[in-house]
Amino acid sequence: MRYINEVDIRDKRVLIRVDFNVPLDEYGNITDDTRIRAHLPTINYALDENAKIIIASHMGRPKGKRVEKLSLRPVAKRLSRYLHKDVAFLDDCIGDDVERAINNMQGGDVVLLENLRYHIGEEKNDPEFASKLARLCDVYIDDAFAVSHRKAASNVAITEYVKTCAAGFLMRNELEYFNRAMGNPVRPLVAIIGGAKVSDKIGVLEKLVEKVDKLIVGGGMAFTFLKALNNDVGNSICEMEMVPIAKEIMEKAKARNVKFYLPVDCVVAERAAADAEYKICPVQEIPQSWMGLDIGPASTSLFAEALQNAKTIVWNGPMGMFELDPFSRGTFAMVTAVANAHALTIVGGGDTDVAVHRAGESFKISYISTGGGAFLELLEGKTMPAIEALEKHEGK
Ligand code: AMP
Repeated sequence: MRYINEVDIRDKRVLIRVDFNVPLDEYGNITDDTRIRAHLPTINYALDENAKIIIASHMGRPKGKRVEKLSLRPVAKRLSRYLHKDVAFLDDCIGDDVERAINNMQGGDVVLLENLRYHIGEEKNDPEFASKLARLCDVYIDDAFAVSHRKAASNVAITEYVKTCAAGFLMRNELEYFNRAMGNPVRPLVAIIGGAKVSDKIGVLEKLVEKVDKLIVGGGMAFTFLKALNNDVGNSICEMEMVPIAKEIMEKAKARNVKFYLPVDCVVAERAAADAEYKICPVQEIPQSWMGLDIGPASTSLFAEALQNAKTIVWNGPMGMFELDPFSRGTFAMVTAVANAHALTIVGGGDTDVAVHRAGESFKISYISTGGGAFLELLEGKTMPAIEALEKHEGK
């Protein structure tokens, strides 16, 4: 697969597929523009090459209909501020008016197309919709790592209709960091997995246990593992049907000599609420009607100790219900431990990036992935349809 700097884009019409699916508040204001900033290297490079830049993205899930709240219009304004130049917003992403506007572009102009998912063909990977998008450009650049695990017209079918296709710099960064961590890692390789449920991450856990030197499990899912070791976990989130799988994963770890770490203490509360009464207790002493909502200080020390000699650390999933202040300490303490480790540190998947940004030490992490589901699917070792499409195109 080639990257944007390996194809000729000078003065050409270049369609860049990005992920500008930013969070908006009830008034339509952007509350976090990390996703916009992540694509600036690719867009700036295309500007340096005097390309006519056509940017395409999805926003939310309008399911083939025009939903005003999911318009990309606010993004055009913010992007314009970062690029220090006008970004024209087009009211649709295909059709005569769009083609006319693009035909009038000069080198160095930037337009942002309206939400791709206003058309049902996008999520259906529809060839007809893809060919209409393809008509807009001479070169197609895929920079939307965060949707590369989904087949869509704008990241799979389109590669059948555009002669020159390549990936952008965000895509390159995501794949390169991932490969450094999971392809041929400097060892010891330590994975930290947290989050609510084992069932959401069976594939990830099964893959990791075959690869890592140490596996640290925290968050809600730790209680299913603790249950598998015959602990009484009170009212903590626990998936009884996953207990056999948890046992299997621990057995595999033992057979492979993978060091396996679980919390030794936790923060328990009667309710999952910020104003609930809470206390710290060993995992052996969780009161019947209480639930574990964070790892405790002894677990934090244990996990931090386990990271001491790590050379590569991969982290997905919070250590507790970090959205509520009393149960955020464990996750934030792990951010500090990871941030200060003498290791290549990679964080991603789900909302883990949110936790890391909130802890305020994100600048010390080697790489924070922009891919939620995409990062998890990479961890599972699944093929990514958008990346496969680019590789296939190159093969031709
Ligand atoms: P995931 O998307 O699987 O990474 O899960 C993230 C969610 O797990 C967050 O919203 C946390 O609030 C939740 N979570 C983490 N630890 C616990 C816990 N001990 N009990 C209940 N929910 C938890």
